[in-house]
Amino acid sequence: MPHAARLTALSSPSTDRWPLASTVSDPRRGPGRRPACCAARWTRWGSRGCRPPGWGSPPRSRSSAPCWARAASTCGTRTRPRTCSRRCCVSRWRPTRSPRRATRRWTRTTPARRRWRSSAGWSAHSPAWPGSARPRTACSPRGGSMSNLLAVLIARDLAAARAGVDARRRGVHGLTRPVVFCSELAHFSVQRACAALGLGEDAVVTIGTDQAFRMRPDLLAAELRRPGRTPVAIVATAGTTDYGSVDPLTAIAELARAHRTWLHVDAAYGFGALFSGRLAPLLDGLALADSVTLDLHKIGWQPAATSVLLVADRNRFAALDRSVDYLNPPDDVDAGLDGLLGRSLQTTRRPDAVKVATTLRAYGRTGLGRMLDHCHELARAAAGRIVADGNLELLAPVTLTTVVFRFDADDGVQGEIRRRLLTSGRALIGRTTMPARAGRPATTALKLTLLNPNATPADIDALLDLVVETGRAVLADDLNGEGAA
Ligand SMILES: *Cc1c(COP(=O)(O)O)cnc(C)c1O
Repeated sequence: MPHAARLTALSSPSTDRWPLASTVSDPRRGPGRRPACCAARWTRWGSRGCRPPGWGSPPRSRSSAPCWARAASTCGTRTRPRTCSRRCCVSRWRPTRSPRRATRRWTRTTPARRRWRSSAGWSAHSPAWPGSARPRTACSPRGGSMSNLLAVLIARDLAAARAGVDARRRGVHGLTRPVVFCSELAHFSVQRACAALGLGEDAVVTIGTDQAFRMRPDLLAAELRRPGRTPVAIVATAGTTDYGSVDPLTAIAELARAHRTWLHVDAAYGFGALFSGRLAPLLDGLALADSVTLDLHKIGWQPAATSVLLVADRNRFAALDRSVDYLNPPDDVDAGLDGLLGRSLQTTRRPDAVKVATTLRAYGRTGLGRMLDHCHELARAAAGRIVADGNLELLAPVTLTTVVFRFDADDGVQGEIRRRLLTSGRALIGRTTMPARAGRPATTALKLTLLNPNATPADIDALLDLVVETGRAVLADDLNGEGAA
């Protein structure tokens, strides 16, 4: 039976039809509500003595703040965070009416860029990211997939240069079978990056995972020892999209060093663990990476897409360098107007750094950590409820904020439950395929990605009630011969 898509906006939330609506419509709920300091204290950007909770000294700043400094209020949807409620103000804000001047002004010298540097410094200010190993430089591409692409591009050019090939000018055909290693649970953007960069998707060598969904270093070591290949990069995942599992970063970094291979850590989802004192130890070893992807539209509560690529050695950005007469001619560069052209494959870009800096200033690490801890607790509560519910089965332990589970029925029912919830407009939950393990074949699973800090365990119970109720309805329809074909 085809579903009529009725994706109704939550414009008039009535609590019986939309049992979860208040998680996004009530601004007073939960730790994600607008911080009291935000409106009153951040009207002037960087006003002295105004410290966001949990960070070190505020960056020095000379200029005053426009209204968007107040834009840091954040709430969230249930599975996908609703972002800063006033972020449209930030997103629409333009540094200047002239695009050309915008390019210049957003290149190097604007206060916002200086603040973004400070923000990048802050994000590195974590116990998991000790002193000397802090990333030296950052750029902000649109989305984690793009950050991963840039990282593999930089790694490709370095591996090629070591083999005496100028990949940028001549392509990769002079390289002996270039390969990129990642776990079988790595994000598909690694394959896409290899395809786009002329390595081909077959360049990706996937490494098996252990029972906890983490890359197995022994298998990686065996693959690295195989002759006749040019290792381009090892991509470790810190926070797999489905399970939140973190590959053993320290062991992988040792292998990367021994084989002189670029280590990229895809922490698009997991990076935010650094905000939480409790979860940060999961990312031990992150500081050993050559590059790191992080998505602040996931844990970070930013409007999509807000990604950052951190690179340990700023010279490595040379792979993206370009001198363009109308943007960064040499005499302008000598005069200090060097621009950000060499930090991205894009030319014109939105000033995404502004909204990130705004949120970091308003909430601080403590505020963001509190929101993450709350979402982590929600995930644990959901897992507890699933274990206690005879109709549901928990398929993986909770690491960050995802919960992978099943309704007690066959694979087809799982997908139908998700579609019915989605098209009824009542709930949007995820689905995935749980790989075969411990004698059990691959199975379709349902997934919660809990990133709404304003939700409560009662909301999660209501959601799981809906799942069970819908699952029963699907089974009843199947019995009556009315199920999905
Ligand atoms: C979400 C995600 C990505 C892709 O990020 P986009 O911002 O959606 O492009 C990459 N890697 C991991 C591990 C992710 O969870």
